[in-house]
Amino acid sequence: METFNFSEPQDITVGKGSLSKLPEIAKKLGGKHALIISGPHLEKMGLVKKAADYLASVDIKADTFTDIEANPSVTTVEKATAKYLESGADFIVAFGGGSPMDVAKAVGVVAKYGGSVTDYEGAHKVPGPIVPLIAIPTTAGTGSEVTAFSVITDHSRNYKLTVFSYEILPKYAILDAELITTAPASVAAACGIDAFIHAEEAYVSTAASPFSDALAEKAMALIGKNIRRFVANRNDIEAAEAMMTGSLFAGIAFSFARLGNVHAMSHPVSAFFDVPHGVANAVLLPVIAEYNALADHGKYLTIYNDIRPISAYADEFEPMMLVDAIRELCTDIGIPENLTIAINNASKNGTVTKEEIESRIEPMAVDAMKSGNIAVNPRASRQCDIEMLYRKAL
Ligand SMILES: [Zn+2]
Repeated sequence: METFNFSEPQDITVGKGSLSKLPEIAKKLGGKHALIISGPHLEKMGLVKKAADYLASVDIKADTFTDIEANPSVTTVEKATAKYLESGADFIVAFGGGSPMDVAKAVGVVAKYGGSVTDYEGAHKVPGPIVPLIAIPTTAGTGSEVTAFSVITDHSRNYKLTVFSYEILPKYAILDAELITTAPASVAAACGIDAFIHAEEAYVSTAASPFSDALAEKAMALIGKNIRRFVANRNDIEAAEAMMTGSLFAGIAFSFARLGNVHAMSHPVSAFFDVPHGVANAVLLPVIAEYNALADHGKYLTIYNDIRPISAYADEFEPMMLVDAIRELCTDIGIPENLTIAINNASKNGTVTKEEIESRIEPMAVDAMKSGNIAVNPRASRQCDIEMLYRKAL
């Protein structure tokens, strides 16, 4: 066994109805004035106000910033930072799915150290502690509440930049399964499969350790056995709790073990064609699982048994059975059949032509190769392999 190291310096509260712990946690943190960074949907549902009311009950002021789009941009980070600075807040509540989390982390950096989020792109460029964050996810999920990454889209170069630093880990996280019960089925499916892929990629990563494996295995079991139920009925609170806990464990697992080709390749797809993150991952997963099958050393059987209602034994299992089981799962939860359909579904200006997509394959592969996740994918990949995988996924 190779040497491995871990530390989990966060305070995490998990439980149905635990949003009510927000005032207590804000006081523990010593905050007096919050900026709640959230999305327009949660604001409409009155949840942002609910959070602000909880804070008001202990005399903590709260301003809000909710103008956040999917795949949030550098400009959105600038606007939210301006709001934070003019509000006089002293901590941030990141409330929502992956987008508000990513923005909140970036604001936490830029509000403290100045400049633009692009100045902190890459690994370990954040000089020290950032504005304290309380993360409250409302999807299950990105796992962003427990990861040291912020992913922001730079439209000037069609690129999703990543800020990676342990300084941006939220100090506190609150995971309340009641918050995810209002998600539409399509969001529950896309976010749920994304969380599953976090665990799956961490599990087969060459950087996996017994610590990340333990979390990834539990995450895959929780999500794999509950995702269909949860997509079918988001008010199934038992399934919602399993999804939320699974997403949390998957997030910690991939913080340590990193991800793989699915995430390396999905970021350019979202940057070029605005395909939602979870959907882009889901349409790439079967193709990459097939490519990686050659490197499998027994883990595929575990993954298979997590997503199939009936278990298989080692003597009857072949890795291709996992590829088929993944396709079946994606179909069951309503994921588009392939990348071409996903790109067209996401298009705001009509059909995207074959030629248009083809012309993007090389630049997307170039960007995918820049991701650190390629290096820990179980099967080695060159740019030509990535281009082949994109074509196969189309
Ligand atoms: Zn993801």
